[in-house]
Amino acid sequence: MRAIPAFKLTPEPLDQEAAALPPFKWADAHIGKRHRLGGQPDFIQADDVPTCSCNKAMSFYAQLDSINDEFVLGDCGMIYVFVCFDCLTTKSVLQSF
Ligand SMILES: [Zn+2]
Repeated sequence: MRAIPAFKLTPEPLDQEAAALPPFKWADAHIGKRHRLGGQPDFIQADDVPTCSCNKAMSFYAQLDSINDEFVLGDCGMIYVFVCFDCLTTKSVLQSF
């Protein structure tokens, strides 16, 4: 299993609709800013690293945060993406508070 170094991802609106989205009204300030490439998953619930269908441990690739109150994943949840560098299978996991 190859570990990817950690990068912070900062979303940049690509159009006026995205730029005009209102922020969360009540969520903590860090909610919506937890996007990450590589490093370790910041699981909300128990660790849940999937196993590939080829039986290899999968590498953590990225986590994607909820966007705002309109595009929220459950209760301020995140999507975790994993990849197998051997067979190029991907799997994702969603966790929420
Ligand atoms: Zn695999």
